This record gives sequence, C-alpha cells and structure tokens, in this order.
Amino acid sequence: MTSNEALFERAQRSIPGGVNSPVRAFRSVGGTPRFVARAQGPYFWDAEGVRYIDYIGSWGPMILGHVHPEVLEAVQRVLADGFSFGAPTEAEIEIAEEIRKLVPSIDQVRLVSSGTEATMSALRLARGFTKRERIVKFEGCYHGHADSLLVKAGSGLLTFGNPTSAGVPPDIAKHTSVLEYNKTEALETAFAAFGDEIAAVIVEPVAGNMNLVRGNPDFLQALRRLCTHHGAVLIFDEVMCGFRVALGGAQALYGIEPDLTCLGKVIGGGMPAAAFGGRRDIMAHLAPEGAVYQAGTLSGNPIAVAAGLKTLQLIQAPGFYERLGEQTAKLASGLAVVARAAGVTFSADAVGGMFGIYFTDEVPASFADVSRSDIPCFNAFFHKMLDAGVYFAPSAYEAGFVSIAHDDAVIDATLDAARSAFAALAA
Ligand code: PMP
Repeated sequence: MTSNEALFERAQRSIPGGVNSPVRAFRSVGGTPRFVARAQGPYFWDAEGVRYIDYIGSWGPMILGHVHPEVLEAVQRVLADGFSFGAPTEAEIEIAEEIRKLVPSIDQVRLVSSGTEATMSALRLARGFTKRERIVKFEGCYHGHADSLLVKAGSGLLTFGNPTSAGVPPDIAKHTSVLEYNKTEALETAFAAFGDEIAAVIVEPVAGNMNLVRGNPDFLQALRRLCTHHGAVLIFDEVMCGFRVALGGAQALYGIEPDLTCLGKVIGGGMPAAAFGGRRDIMAHLAPEGAVYQAGTLSGNPIAVAAGLKTLQLIQAPGFYERLGEQTAKLASGLAVVARAAGVTFSADAVGGMFGIYFTDEVPASFADVSRSDIPCFNAFFHKMLDAGVYFAPSAYEAGFVSIAHDDAVIDATLDAARSAFAALAA
C-alpha cells in the first residue's frame, strides 16, 4: 500500500503543487493531502485504506452520496453506446427540459463542462445583449477562474477593480467593480454612479466560497429592483447553491427570478457538466442564433448528461430536501452545542444541504466577518477531525456539504469526534 505522503511527493514532481485544483493541497491547514482511492455513500477511503466521513462531496455535486446505485446504472447503460459525439443527442433535450421544469426562470439553457465556462459565457452573453462592458461582483463570491472574475475591489467605489491573480491584465480587471456582499447601501450608491454602464451583476445568492454566507433577502431584492431599473442583467451563480439549498435553488428559496442562472456541480452528478440559461430574449443572442459566440467539444457529453439527469430525477423524490435539510441542520446545531459545552468560540449555519462552521461568536454576513475567524483554531480542529476520520473542507473559507447518505449514525459519529476535538482545543 502506498502512503499519502509518498503519493504527495511523487505528485509534486509531475503536477504543480501535486494537485489539479489548489485547495486540495492543504496549503492553508498544512499537512499531507489524502489521496482518494474510492468512495461509497457518505465515505471515502484514502490510499492507506483509511475511511473518512466526507463533508465536501466533491465540493457539492455528490448530493446523493458517492456511487449511488441508480446513477451508476444510468452511466453504465450509456457507456457502451459511445463516449462523445460532437453532435446532438435526445438526452441533452431531456436534461434541458428537466432543468426548465425545476428552475422556472430558465426558458432556455446551454450545457457546458465546468462552472467557470458557465459564468464566463453568461457574462459574455450579458455584455453582448446589453452592449455594455461593466460587470459588478461581490467580495468573497467566487465564480470560477475567468479573467473578468478574478478581481478585487480598488481603493474606492469609482476606482477600477484590481486582479487577484497574476496573469490577469489590469485592462480586463478594470471593467469589473467589486462591492461588499449584503450591503444594500453600497449597491444603491454604485447604481446611482454608473448604473447605466452595467452589463451584468453576478452574485452567489447563497455564498459558499467564503465559507457559507446567506444572501440577505432585502439585499437580493434590491439587486433585482436595481438591475431591472437600469437594464442590467442579473446573473445568479447557482453553480454551488443550485439544487443544493432547495430543489429550485436559491431563487426558489428567496422567490427572486434572475435574468440568467449558472448551474454546475449537482447537474453533472459528479461528472463534468454545468450550464447557463435564462430569459429567452437574452439566450437568443447566443450563437448560432445570435452574435455571441460560445461552444464546447464536450458540451452535453452523453456520460455526464446521463449522470446528471438521473441525479436530477432522484432529488425530486418526495421529502428529499426536508430530509437533507434536517440532517444538515442536525450536524450544524450539534457542532455548535458541543463547541459551546467545551467553551470554544464557534458558530454554525446550514441552508438545505450546505453548512458553514465558523470560529467566530456570530454567524458571518460578509467576507469581512468571515475574515475575523480564528484560523489557527480552525486548522487545529480540522486536523483533529481528520485524525478521527472526518474530512471537512481544508480551509476556513469553504462551505461544507451533506449528502442524503449522511444518516443519523454518520452525523452522531461526527459529533462524537467533534466533542473530543473541541475538548482538546479548549485544553
Ligand atoms: N461558481 C461557483 C459559485 C462555484 O462554487 C464554482 C466552483 N466552486 C464555480 C463557479 C466554478 O466552477 P468550476 O470549478 O466547475 O469551474
């Protein structure tokens, strides 16, 4: 059996940082990443044969738990018919129809292979539709790694956005304005100053990339009102929260219809599939109908569509979201109770099958609030839980995910491990 350590060393010779996506490298928590050998239900096993309760679920897609038998069967059924065609299939129509049924603000939808492609394409479409250039995003929201979206706020409201990554030209970043999440006043000021230049506002209505932070209903309502008033396209990035916080996504939870929606994660059931869709008059601007170009060799891939479609069918089972929400709430409130009993400063929140754990005394409402977390304490907690066989996100700035396979026994085992971990932290 190969150790995680040996694999990590070997990986770093051929792969930058040893990983294919940065957070997997454990840079913020330290230590050796676990190399996954296989997974089943709420668990995965690493290369050393150690079992972990999995609270990232591939960062959202595995809402049914790993290797759900019906999804496996759906994938196996289509595998023998071909892996990719570059020509349309009936299954693509079926998943598009299913998405439209579940998310009524979507009249038309186009499939892509990653969330990054979905947001990047939605922005281009919004710019092509409005014939404007400026994009507004919010601090702490992540929308994938397109150039226009790797941007942080400049020093004042009217200054240009600055790149957060090397390699992003300032000339691109300057078209993106970054505002504080959940701050309605700043939003109103921005729209008053340059509302008529804004092509699109993109937002995670329930944010999951600065840990879990709920969008404030008044803030999201104001956003809807201001976008409509100024002719800007409102894009809900539901790559993470879509089919995760409720069957119809955050837009169903809040009762707000965006103009465009980005989806990913759950709609691929663990395979590479994502999508963007929305108002028919906007989608009509997309090639081949319209002048906004967008394409993909593997878009609508038959294997990914089979996994996604079956996942979308299974999450519609009666009581699915009630059960998922109950289990997630049980975990979050249980963690808060054991932390309090140990005297550790801690809070937790849950929306549907997503949760946040914070080493702060109150549930945060913005990136600035999350930044006040006790990071050394989080890192110590993370490692104590890992040692006890519980895999939480390896960063204090990530949300957690519960699947329908996380039953009472799994949650109770997690809370038992947490009781010891918090006691050790307090000592
Ligand atoms: N938007 C959101 C809200 C996300 O959470 C993510 C990924 N975590 C993305 C976009 C990018 O998706 P992908 O990693 O599939 O490119």
